[in-house]
Order: sequence, then C-alpha cells, then structure tokens
Amino acid sequence: MKILVTGAAGYIGSHFVKKALDRYPTVKVLAVDDLREGHAQALPDSERVTFHNISIANSEALDPVLAAEKPDAVVHYAANAYVGESQEKPFKYFDNNVAGSLNLFKLLARHGVNKVIFSSSCTTYGNPEYIPIDEKHPQSPINVYGITKLMIEQALMGLHLASGWSYISLRYFNAAGADDQAAIGESHEPETHLIPLVLQTALGRREEIGIYGDDYDTEDGTCIRDYVHVYDLAEAHCLALDKLLALKEGDSTFDAINLGTSRGASVEEVIKTCEKVSGRSIKRKVTARRPGDPAKLVADYTRAKEILGWEPKYDLERIIETAWAWEKSRQY
Ligand code: UDP
Repeated sequence: MKILVTGAAGYIGSHFVKKALDRYPTVKVLAVDDLREGHAQALPDSERVTFHNISIANSEALDPVLAAEKPDAVVHYAANAYVGESQEKPFKYFDNNVAGSLNLFKLLARHGVNKVIFSSSCTTYGNPEYIPIDEKHPQSPINVYGITKLMIEQALMGLHLASGWSYISLRYFNAAGADDQAAIGESHEPETHLIPLVLQTALGRREEIGIYGDDYDTEDGTCIRDYVHVYDLAEAHCLALDKLLALKEGDSTFDAINLGTSRGASVEEVIKTCEKVSGRSIKRKVTARRPGDPAKLVADYTRAKEILGWEPKYDLERIIETAWAWEKSRQY
C-alpha cells in the first residue's frame, strides 16, 4: 500500500504518518510538504517514508512523483489554518488552500488516483444552530478559512459526481495533544491555540494567558470547545482510508464525518486541567472577546462511530498530559 500525504510535516499530518507506519507494517508513505509551516524534524526517519519538499501548487515537481509512484490514495492535510489570518489575507487562503487543492486534484486525475481523505473542519458549519453539531447541520462558514475548506469539500463532491472519485471529508473540532513519547507535537509560529499557550504560561515562557471573554452564555462564562487528540484524529484517518481501500473496482463512495469527543470543555476548565497536570498555578487575565468566536462548539460523533467504528480514546486530562510532556521537551 502506498499513500501520498500532503502537509505531512505539519502538526496533524506528522502524527498521522507516525501512526500509519505503526498500523500498516508495509505501507509506503510519500510525504509532501513545502515546509513553510511544517517541520522536517516532525517526519520519522524511516525507509518507508520518502520526503518530497514541494508544494501542492507546484505541478512541475509533483507530477513526476505521481507518475513514478502512483499512490493508492491521498490523505490531504496541506493548508493554511489560521482563521484570523484568513480574514486579513483572503487570497493567500484562496491560493494555497483552494487553488493548491484543485491543482493537486488535477494531477491526481492525470495519474488515475481517485481516493482522497480530506482534512476538513467544524469551521465549515459557522455559528451553530444547535449543539452538539452533527453532519446534517447547515454549512455556513463565517470566515475565509472555513469557506476554503467548504470549497474543497464541494470540489471533491464534483469529482465524485463527474468522475466517480471516492472521498471522505473529516471535519475536526479542536485538534490538541501530542505524541505519547513526546517525540513530536504542536509547533505553530505564531501559536494561537489555547492549550499550548496555557502550557507555555505554566512554563514561564509567557507572562499570562488571556481569556477571550468570560461573559458568554455558558456555565462559567468562557467559551466551550471540543478538544480531540491528534492520535484519535490519526486513527480516524486510518479507518477512513481502510474504507476507501476496501472498495471494489468500479465502486465509489463519499462521506463527511465529524471528529470530536462530544464533550465540551470551557477555557476555564482547560486552564484548571493544565494547572492540575503541570502542578503550577497559571496567571490568567480576562480580555475582550475574539471576533467570530461562537460560545459553544461541540461535535456529535455518532456518525464516526457508525461508519468508521471510531471512538476517541483520550480525555481532556490525557490530551493535556501529552501536550505538557511535549511542551517541556520540544525539539522544534
Ligand atoms: N482562547 C482564549 N485565549 C487564547 C486562545 C484561545 O481564551 O489565548 C479561547 C478561544 O476564544 C476559544 C478557545 O480558547 O474559545 C479555543 O481557541 P483555539 O484558538 O485554540 O481554537 P479555535 O476554537 O479557535 O479553533
């Protein structure tokens, strides 16, 4: 089995590669990343992984890789993923996420590769009309990042209808945590995600953690999110991949599946759990709300259970334990 992984040196992509090597003893991974945001050190040193330092927008470089290797399927992570930045630089997101993906799909079509696992997002739902959010919830994104993810989902639907492609869009809630051995983990520049910022405050690398509003309509007034461990996400990608690879010649399928735990945690609860795990008290300061933040985002993951047989294994405390071990010893 041979799989192309785009964004393989990124946070979620690199955890998937590590997991896939464990799970599939003979898999060959074609790891594609342009290292603009990814980290070469995040990729395992394995003869089963070939690293290609190229962008999905670079047809000239990607075409010969596909011609020579012809993967059985693609797991497509490569994307810019900052909501705030997407509002400031919409064309960066349209170019890298949308045009980049379309370019990738064009090349896949040229080489007869028509199975894709796509890294989508709960951001495609926009402001929730009800909680927990299932896949039938209207997709009405409220920022450019969410729009780009929805556009790619729709492009895949088009390719399914027109050319019989098979794909599964996995809509993640809040990816968090790190490798159990702390060999790899989250490293964004700049970091904007709650858990790493709180843990960096615990380590004294930041003065305090700003809480973006404590007057939401939630129990403690702070926003509620559904944090899901990167290895739980990686496992779901493997299960989705198994589904596509098991299709009989000529059959095709598509699906969209939420990946979350169905358990929401407030910002305050995250900070308290970080204090418990680190054994340190963490200075917080309530600041203004961040524009575009819904009060609550929680997944209904029934479909992941039914279709993939997936269950998240890491609870919030375990997620934070892995993130803490990584944060203390990170190599990149
Ligand atoms: N958040 C916060 N302070 C921070 C970063 C995040 O209060 O410095 C809150 C944010 O408003 C949201 C939650 O933490 O409710 C998770 O934010 P994150 O940026 O990690 O993920 P998002 O939900 O935006 O994808």
